[in-house]
Amino acid sequence: MGTRGISIIKVDVNELIKLLNKAFADEWLAYYQYWIGAKVARGPMKEAVIAELNQHAADELRHATMVSDRIIQLGGTPILSPEEWYKMTNCGYDAPKDPYVKILLEQNIKGEQCAISTYEKLLEFTKDKDFVTFNIVQQILQDEVEHEEDLQALMEDFELMVSREIKK
Ligand code: FE
Ligand code: FE
Ligand code: MG
Repeated sequence: MGTRGISIIKVDVNELIKLLNKAFADEWLAYYQYWIGAKVARGPMKEAVIAELNQHAADELRHATMVSDRIIQLGGTPILSPEEWYKMTNCGYDAPKDPYVKILLEQNIKGEQCAISTYEKLLEFTKDKDFVTFNIVQQILQDEVEHEEDLQALMEDFELMVSREIKK
């Protein structure tokens, strides 16, 4: 990394790289959870759910790019092997073993809520101490908040539809 660029950072850069690598692992696992979820989804409102899952998968992959670019800029190395994702992750991975749309939505809402907490912590860690990382993390957090809302709105529609069907 550029010497002046690194000199303005007021946190432990190695600790920051570790936290970013943990978030990087989360992004790859989130990407795959959405991507494979969109392939296997079954049940009512499947088309709408699949479209949202695919959009989110693309966003998570973009986040992985943003985080890894910053890790490299800081002089670190992004995780090189997928088996490290499991060791480093904050939010884990929920395999869509039951592909029913409601279960997929629940799993992914849980993932987004974990992602929001992860990036909130990264914002607190970098606030007033690393403006560049703070800005990147803020952009990602904005997307994760939107993701949670999108999925909860779909869940609400799903439940409304199911309850109306039962009353018929
Ligand atoms: Fe993300
Ligand atoms: Fe997300
Ligand atoms: Mg969305």
